[in-house]
Amino acid sequence: TSFGFRTVREGEKQDLVDDVFHKVASRYDLMNDLMSGGLHRLWKDAMVSSLNPPKNGARVWRHLDVAGGTGDIATRVVERSNRTIKSTVCDINGSMLGVGKDRANAAGLSENIEFIQGNAEELPFPDKHFDAYTIAFGIRNVPQIDKALSEAFRVLKRGGRFMCLEFSQVDVPALDKVYDLFSFHAIPKIGQVVTGDGDPYSYLVESIRKFPNQERFAQMIRDAGFERVTYRNYTGGIAALHSGWKI
Ligand code: SAM
Repeated sequence: TSFGFRTVREGEKQDLVDDVFHKVASRYDLMNDLMSGGLHRLWKDAMVSSLNPPKNGARVWRHLDVAGGTGDIATRVVERSNRTIKSTVCDINGSMLGVGKDRANAAGLSENIEFIQGNAEELPFPDKHFDAYTIAFGIRNVPQIDKALSEAFRVLKRGGRFMCLEFSQVDVPALDKVYDLFSFHAIPKIGQVVTGDGDPYSYLVESIRKFPNQERFAQMIRDAGFERVTYRNYTGGIAALHSGWKI
């Protein structure tokens, strides 16, 4: 992986990612809004409405949000269930979890959302435990994606749902050009202004480039054991939502 002018070894990747999110945790939501022009909110809403969690609390339904950061997805899932389900946010970064915990407390959701520090490649949960696994803008940062996918498969019950929201390959030529200009030039600058350091953002932009396209990622999900794997593009493929089932 090349990072600006130097090369990043595989083992360094997680350290770099951790560094970015420690630095940005308190301003993470602002950064997200600036970098996506607020679109991440719409994509997340669409993801959770597609997940469609049960709304009446008739049965226990466990949701795991990996790389859940400050709890954006978990909060939406819990609210959409009319606060009847429990969500577990798992993230490798204590700073992001800290911000999420404060937010959940302030929203009166501390009963519904738990925050657990852990690595997507080695989840600290038993087999067949969850009804749904979500990961939003997280899997791209994980050094070994295939490991994260097989962990997702392991912790889901039979009949469980896997959903991943991630930046993807833009399939609209003009949009592609604008997006390239924006991401290569503007995103590191925004990072520089808001967090005082643009370099880590160059790295994140590059990780978007390196991430497999829609079809290739769908195949990786199938390779991990999931069935009925589908995807849909958001905003011309800037983001894509992949879905699969553990049958
Ligand atoms: N899901 C949240 C959202 O959509 O707003 C946060 C996404 S943020 C771009 C990526 C998150 O992935 C960070 O909180 C980071 O700490 C987490 N992360 C990076 N590597 C991870 C790993 N190996 N295991 C679990 N989480 C990881």
